[in-house]
Parts: sequence; C-alpha cells; structure tokens
Amino acid sequence: MHHKQTLPSKECEHCQRPFNWRKKWARDWVQVRYCSERCKREAKKSR
Ligand SMILES: [Zn+2]
Repeated sequence: MHHKQTLPSKECEHCQRPFNWRKKWARDWVQVRYCSERCKREAKKSR
C-alpha cells in the first residue's frame, strides 16, 4: 500500500485554525503555538 506522508499539524492558540508544520519551525516545533507571527503578536496583545 502506498503510504501518504503527512506533516504534523497543530491548532493555533489564537485563531483556532489548524496549521501544518513548516520548515522554519523544524528546530522548535514543540514550542510553536501560533500559526503566524501575527497571531503570536495578537495573542500577546489581548492578554
Ligand atoms: Zn493563528
């Protein structure tokens, strides 16, 4: 059977949308909580 390779994905803690693994996060994927810098910033702002 052909095995489809799937990238890991998470749900953004800010916009609640699922996002996929990106190469730029290869080193700290475990710590990634937001889909984008924008969400990261917005999340901090709303605290
Ligand atoms: Zn987001």
